[in-house]
Amino acid sequence: MKTVTILGASGSIGSSALAFLRLHREAFSLESIALGRDWKAALQIAREFGCTTVALADPEAARRFRDESGGLACAVIDGPHAASAVAAMPVDVVLAAISGSIGYAPVLAAVRARNRVALANKEALVCGGRGLLDLARQLSTSIVPVDSEHSAILQCLAAGRPEEVRRIELTASGGPFRRWSREAMSQASVADALNHPVWPMGSKNSLDSATMANKGLELIETAYLFDIAPNSIDVLINPSSLLHSAVHYVDGSMIAMLGKADMRNAVGYGLTYPDRMVTGVDPLDLAEVGVLTFSRADNDRFPCIDLAREAVRQGQGAAMMFNAANEIAGRLFMCGAIGFLQIEQIITGCLASDTSRYAADVDDVVPADAAAKAFAEAYAGARFAAAEVD
Ligand code: MG
Repeated sequence: MKTVTILGASGSIGSSALAFLRLHREAFSLESIALGRDWKAALQIAREFGCTTVALADPEAARRFRDESGGLACAVIDGPHAASAVAAMPVDVVLAAISGSIGYAPVLAAVRARNRVALANKEALVCGGRGLLDLARQLSTSIVPVDSEHSAILQCLAAGRPEEVRRIELTASGGPFRRWSREAMSQASVADALNHPVWPMGSKNSLDSATMANKGLELIETAYLFDIAPNSIDVLINPSSLLHSAVHYVDGSMIAMLGKADMRNAVGYGLTYPDRMVTGVDPLDLAEVGVLTFSRADNDRFPCIDLAREAVRQGQGAAMMFNAANEIAGRLFMCGAIGFLQIEQIITGCLASDTSRYAADVDDVVPADAAAKAFAEAYAGARFAAAEVD
């Protein structure tokens, strides 16, 4: 029996993971879950899976959970460090699916406890950088990507040796604005930006897909995880999101991973790696698909991809800033303080500052991230009068 902890159990990745675990009750035991404030979902999951520990960041939600969970033999931890506390409890695999850099500390806690991490939180890796991967290696544990593209790349890399890799094709759906002009994007509303054509996701990831900052973060993640230069990673648009990424080898072969656009696939692989188990995802019928279309990402309309490439070149502090500025600008857009195109302007402006000061050891990532965000907030406030983060 493999033991599992899910951080971010009520989100879309968490739900995919629960669906996977329901198929394999004999093989996996869900030990602990961490959630923000959704105590009702926590109660439901804890009852269904017989979890031993529940972490709720919000103390009031934890109080409600305790009041309502009569008869449930389940420990409750609350407060801002609750997710890190359960992440450090020994299990076979911790699924890290809390989005945003707030998910970093629990990932670090899991690695320090030598728990394998199935990583769905890209910001944790972008902020932690190579230091986080080195630490995992030193402690003989591993970080297995759960992002669909990185899961695909990991699978494609199984076909050869690292020195045989020529380039990586990181695929993207193109997001809701794939066909929009810059002019139209300048008027885009929050609802437009959150209307993702393929993947149902939380609002952070949906907005990041609209700006393609998501692909920028994924490019940084790819460079770190697979130790490849940013210039050797190309972004390929496949609007149907059936080809999840590919690897070019020196002999001219290209190994691609295809499958239905269903996160249960990558989540399942993250939990079972290097084995494979039934995920409930049906096989892809290429005859039925008929045609797959591809194009290059348009860097002029979506500059966040090149900004991310440049951030990797500049160093970890710049990658940290890319993420921080994107989070701050995204929040400002969501509350109507700035327009859609101002997101990339804020990222550009922040990356032009001295970002080397945000490079940090694994233990100093949280304050460095806070400093980068404070800078981004001040920058946005000075540049756009209406910009205020609530
Ligand atoms: Mg992805």
